[in-house]
Amino acid sequence: MKAVVNFAPQPHSVEMREIPVPEIGETDVLVAVRAVGICGSDLHQFTGNHSWKVNYPVVLGHEFGGIVAKAGARVQGFSEGDRIVSETAAVIDPDSPFTRQGLYNLDPNRLGFGYGVNGAMTEFVKVPQRCLHHIPVTLAFETAALTEPCCVAYNAVCVNSRLRPGDSVAILGPGPIGLLCALMARLAGAGHVVVIGIPADTRRLEVAKQVGADTTLGGKGEDVGAWVKEFGDGYGLDLVIDAAGVSATLKTAMEIVRPGGQITKVGWGPQPLNFSLDPLVQKAVTLQGSFSHNWPIWEKVIGLLASGRLSMDLILNRISPLADWRPAFEDMHSGRIVKGVLTP
Ligand SMILES: [Zn+2]
Repeated sequence: MKAVVNFAPQPHSVEMREIPVPEIGETDVLVAVRAVGICGSDLHQFTGNHSWKVNYPVVLGHEFGGIVAKAGARVQGFSEGDRIVSETAAVIDPDSPFTRQGLYNLDPNRLGFGYGVNGAMTEFVKVPQRCLHHIPVTLAFETAALTEPCCVAYNAVCVNSRLRPGDSVAILGPGPIGLLCALMARLAGAGHVVVIGIPADTRRLEVAKQVGADTTLGGKGEDVGAWVKEFGDGYGLDLVIDAAGVSATLKTAMEIVRPGGQITKVGWGPQPLNFSLDPLVQKAVTLQGSFSHNWPIWEKVIGLLASGRLSMDLILNRISPLADWRPAFEDMHSGRIVKGVLTP
């Protein structure tokens, strides 16, 4: 079968290869992939500027939906023909203290599809039964493939942050996760939502407006600090979601958060920082990280997508056959599209 394989750490070490259909174990299913989302992390591995360990060669892709093509002898609750999406924690230790709390997403030893084990940018992928969730026939595979990034946003906005109706929210970084966080903040009853980017984000900031941001800043180099002083009582925003892929945006987050407010960091980058964290102390800010997602979040997000309350219409801008992976990657990398999906 054809697969988009990342074979080395050097930039652009990705190519289409012919690989065998995987063998499955007793508690696995073989999924026929119908749609697989392109994630920022796939792009980071493509450009070779990722900060995690990759088991080369590996098939890319961890945001996917498809049909059960074959179920192992001990699989329960899923059978041939079922429509499913899959979580990303392909290998976990069932006895780790995190797994026992349902927080397998936080186990530092877990391995995910697309970097630790072969992912879904191919025709068939081996998936343990515990990763699977059923999806209704009304939910298209192309939309369902975006369940995973929606779960990242749900965890950041609705689980790790404490957002009350009417709270003002700033989102740093209008990439896919930032825009999904804006949608989630809207669903959760946020008051004023402001999405902040840089001039290269012009296109994505337009999308931010369309998905419900009240204000967008940074596309024309606007002074964010000056805007915040003019906003409301001038003391800053209740919640800042930092979805930019660098650490340095924490400085902006500390500047614009309200005393007693919260910062949730969901975007990451390995670069070191050289500024003071004093505003965290002086403003008594709650700073929290948010990483990945777990089973209950998947069930909630599938329900939101299936009901249409959470719409991907403005986020999903390109559906391409697997063979066109490269132009799709490039379109997303350049910000011409927010999110692309490949259909093997
Ligand atoms: Zn992803």
